[in-house]
Amino acid sequence: MSTPMPRAPMLATAEALATLLSAASPIAGTESIPTLDALNRVLAADVTSPLDVPPMNTSSMDGYAIRTADLTVRDYSRLPVSQRIPAGHAPEPLKPGTAARIFTGATVPPGADAIVMQEQTEAADTDVVILHSPEPGEWITAQGADIRSGSVILPAGTRLTPQALGLAASVGCAELAVRRRVKVAVFFTGDELTMPGEPLKPGAIYNSNRFTLRGLLEKLGCEVTDYGIVADKLDATRATLREAAEAHDLILTCGGVSVGEEDHVKPAVEAEGRLAMWQIAMKPGKPLAFGAVRRAARRGETAAAPDSASAETFFIGLPGNPVSSFATFLLFVRPFILSLAGVQAVAPRALSLRADFTQSKADRRNEFLRARINPAGGLDLFPNQSSAVLTSTVWGDGLIDNPPNHAISAGETVRFIPFSELLN
Ligand code: AMP
Ligand code: MG
Repeated sequence: MSTPMPRAPMLATAEALATLLSAASPIAGTESIPTLDALNRVLAADVTSPLDVPPMNTSSMDGYAIRTADLTVRDYSRLPVSQRIPAGHAPEPLKPGTAARIFTGATVPPGADAIVMQEQTEAADTDVVILHSPEPGEWITAQGADIRSGSVILPAGTRLTPQALGLAASVGCAELAVRRRVKVAVFFTGDELTMPGEPLKPGAIYNSNRFTLRGLLEKLGCEVTDYGIVADKLDATRATLREAAEAHDLILTCGGVSVGEEDHVKPAVEAEGRLAMWQIAMKPGKPLAFGAVRRAARRGETAAAPDSASAETFFIGLPGNPVSSFATFLLFVRPFILSLAGVQAVAPRALSLRADFTQSKADRRNEFLRARINPAGGLDLFPNQSSAVLTSTVWGDGLIDNPPNHAISAGETVRFIPFSELLN
């Protein structure tokens, strides 16, 4: 009779993430690129506005610019119209006792302190009758009300969204200083793996993870080198690691990190660098390997090296089960890569939502359950939470982060991380 092996202590998800992130500092290397081409890139320096926005006092209505002190009759003052100010034209100072016809976005003339919208006026020959008594400042957008000259409008570490590009352009930035893209090499192991388009032999499966992981890396803005399936042989795996280490910031592999696995990734990384095999108390996705692969001596040639200051390239080995590799990528690899990319805010924002289901069995691990938001605003659970069931990841809108040893009762509020937070 054999005695069962004692289980190795498992790392909590938060602990594993903290260890990963403490190793990740932003890559060196920045470039200046046209603002029009900077979508999804990460700012390497603060963007400071060289001007006030708006650059002058502007009217936010079509109407008449007046001086409130000139309105002597409450809600009925007749004033001659002394000038007409379309947007894009410089006005004359407002003559005392007159009104200026003005349009949205046009410069408020010096001397005027309010705009009366045209719906509250009546034209009378060359005069206008003002049927309203405005407060000083009414319908005027003050110079610098949105942005003050010299203020930081986008801090370093911002990932550039379309609206961030618009904001940068609104203060006249034609170019932006960004970090270079993170370079990631990826390869897959497993003699059972077949590419779609090839016949599926008995016992074989399609290499679906290649498609998922490539997509995830590309969405993060990485420069990806995909080595495809590497033969499950020590020499081949070591050679791929050595080659990939030279020109990348991170080597990502998939498969063969389970305990007791007959696989060459683990000994190959140990031979070419260093490796820690983690058992994370999470479901799906328990195993994760984290380490580094040494870079060869430069021999005076640095062109290929992405970061010549670094003597090694990070290594992360993901589990092979499709949902496990997807979930571990989202929870660990994504924030790690964003940290390398110099992004400041890497944690996904979660929602507190009502569970519209019951899960009576508590798991001792931190579960990440595939769920979706129903029309009532609560969460439905995908019925099959197996780590091999990729269907759940397409059906779902995100992951419920269910703490260890916790059963879920219907009506309870749970922590839900939407895929929209995890997939960009
Ligand atoms: P492993 O982590 O290598 O033990 O693999 C666990 C499970 O995931 C096995 O059923 C593998 O066949 C499957 N698997 C491994 N790699 C892939 C992949 N690239 N695409 C789809 N399934 C995979
Ligand atoms: Mg395998």
